[in-house]
Amino acid sequence: MRYLSTRGHPERRRFCEILLEGLAPDGGLYLPERYPQVDAATLARWRGLPYAELAFEVLSLYIDDIPVADLKAICAKTYTAEIFGTPDIVPLRELEDGVYLEALSNGPTLAFKDMAMQLLGNLFEYELARRGEELNILGATSGDTGSAAEYAMRGKKGVRVFMTSPDGRMSPFQQAQMFSLQDPNIHNIAIAGVFDDCQDIVKAVSNDLDFKRKYRIGTVNSINWARLLAQVVYYFAGYFQATGNNDGEVSFTVPSGNFGNVCAGHVARSMGLPIRTLVVATNENDVLDEFFRTGIYRVRSAADTHETSSPSMDISKASNFERFVFDLVGRDAARTRGLFEEDLRKAGRFDLSADPVFAQAATRFGFASSRSTHADRVATIRDTDKRFATLVDTHTADGLKAAREHLQPGVPMIVLETALPIKFAETIVEALGRAPERPARFEGIEALPRRVVQLPADAEAVKAYIARHCA
Ligand SMILES: *Cc1c(COP(=O)(O)O)cnc(C)c1O
Repeated sequence: MRYLSTRGHPERRRFCEILLEGLAPDGGLYLPERYPQVDAATLARWRGLPYAELAFEVLSLYIDDIPVADLKAICAKTYTAEIFGTPDIVPLRELEDGVYLEALSNGPTLAFKDMAMQLLGNLFEYELARRGEELNILGATSGDTGSAAEYAMRGKKGVRVFMTSPDGRMSPFQQAQMFSLQDPNIHNIAIAGVFDDCQDIVKAVSNDLDFKRKYRIGTVNSINWARLLAQVVYYFAGYFQATGNNDGEVSFTVPSGNFGNVCAGHVARSMGLPIRTLVVATNENDVLDEFFRTGIYRVRSAADTHETSSPSMDISKASNFERFVFDLVGRDAARTRGLFEEDLRKAGRFDLSADPVFAQAATRFGFASSRSTHADRVATIRDTDKRFATLVDTHTADGLKAAREHLQPGVPMIVLETALPIKFAETIVEALGRAPERPARFEGIEALPRRVVQLPADAEAVKAYIARHCA
């Protein structure tokens, strides 16, 4: 399998060559040259497999530069009941007639990002050892991504993490989750500023090519292909659980921000997994809902990006969206480059409403969308608690609301649960008047000793810190 860039760079690369990278050299995103097809016989063979073996089967269609035995061992070591809480890894439960919740949030940090990040940690350690190299991961987080990255990379050989976050602005639970890690290879950097300042620092450091090379700076952001690939697996696992021993179609609803999670659904569907509809659920930051309704993709300004009670979906643009648009326009790289490099840069938007391909987003690719508000989330959390004695977090609540708007008779609708309610306790208290239950292993984490340094919102200060700790 070779990988290409959505913007037409002539080079074709292999999985391990792009594993440690973000964007392609021309600013595009990596995609496989084609989607391997999975037929009914293969689906039947995969149906009974434990999650780690299913992961191996899916990954091995895309990875041919890691020996089979090694890839198998990496999957087996990643997807264990010990790390993900249950032997099913992603257990499915029926909430009401035809509506299912697929639990993706029982990993170390209680959000679905663990599903991919835990694999990435093991792949990075493996590949760096093979090359005899080291990597310093620099990131910016407002919560879920940073903690998932730290819990995946802690104690890994050859990897250090430098994670910036806006000082005092993450939820107390999220701060405690990250700052209580005592591993010497994990560095928490609280920046005197907001999340945008952290992102600007990461950009500034990455743009200093000499520094980047000298200190082997890398990232683990959501455009990383390996992260997306890991997420494809749980679409298969959800399908098998919802359909029992029957074939037939299912639909998925996916709480969406950067379009990483639902893009994995698009890949699974493109491989032949019988998915009827992929419902993109957004909050008030409705860039994606607007596109699927109108054909217009309009990046928001900072002032036009809302702080919501489903904060992990508070995005101004959807960084993985280019992957889908590339497929939508018939894999025309010049067209994709025109849309993302020219139209977006010049006008902050592009418009496919008059183009016949836009209708195919729904008809050929199965996409639909919905948008929720804070009031919707509170109402959904209350209703789900009352009728089903089930507590959902704010992001999953956005998903449930969207799912009900796109239910089709006879087609199971699987809602991806993207976090546990304890991570967003404030809104749960608002909705129910009581705090969510906390898993035992997180009891009292706020009182643990903290490992975090405070730095000004200044790229030079962060560089100096990194240089001091890379000896
Ligand atoms: C990251 C995140 C999302 C959004 O996922 P994307 O892949 O960016 O679309 C939704 N919910 C939670 C809880 C998250 O952490």
